[in-house]
Amino acid sequence: MRLKVLGASAWPTATRRTSGFVVDGELLLDAGTVNSGLDAEELTALRSAVISHAHVDHVKELPFAAQVRLERGAPPLACAAPAEILDILRTHLFNGALWPDFTALGDPPPIRFHPMTPGEAHSLGSFAVRAIPVRHSVPSYGYIVTRGRQGMAYTADMGAGAAFWEAVAANAAVSTVLAECTFPDRLRDLAERTAHLCPSRLHEALDLAMRPLRILVTHTAPGHTEEIGRDFRRLGMRVEFVEQDHTYEV
Ligand SMILES: [Zn+2]
Ligand SMILES: [Zn+2]
Repeated sequence: MRLKVLGASAWPTATRRTSGFVVDGELLLDAGTVNSGLDAEELTALRSAVISHAHVDHVKELPFAAQVRLERGAPPLACAAPAEILDILRTHLFNGALWPDFTALGDPPPIRFHPMTPGEAHSLGSFAVRAIPVRHSVPSYGYIVTRGRQGMAYTADMGAGAAFWEAVAANAAVSTVLAECTFPDRLRDLAERTAHLCPSRLHEALDLAMRPLRILVTHTAPGHTEEIGRDFRRLGMRVEFVEQDHTYEV
């Protein structure tokens, strides 16, 4: 599978965008960056969007993606997540006040909500996608995405998630984990309070995965990325920091 990174920053700066990833040109993982990282053809080629949680750095461009797809007459984008995430999007984003309800506007509407049952594999195009609850300051789900014999996992924003790592351990197709690491170890207390990972917390969690995995690091806080890298080296961990606009074979 090919993973294109649209944004990998915990918050936006003049040069860095927030979470958004495209798998094989079809499946969007989080929508913090969509329009800012894709041209209109790429945007309308998306078939589904999987949302980890409703924090704005993960959903803020979904309204604009809907707008472009409506204007270009693209088929509905399946916006997939467990119902509690979709309820937040409906109540607080596509509510006719902050933005039009693009699940009801247009014929067909540019977005179609696809509620997922946590733990169950859902077919999204040719992908099988499974949502696993993780601990964060709001409801949040990590995802395991497989296509044929290939697979990857995405931690979402998480402070802890034993069930997620156990699901990774149980799925031999998963060889790569796209893992958030927001803060350096020096700010471990802050990471715990805000339910995020830092290198030592990720190092501990990986024991639960029971096998070596390729770790792609994302969601680093601006200004802290170099220190996070030093922490990983001190721990003896080989990781790759994903770069915006780069594509990775996973
Ligand atoms: Zn985030
Ligand atoms: Zn978050």
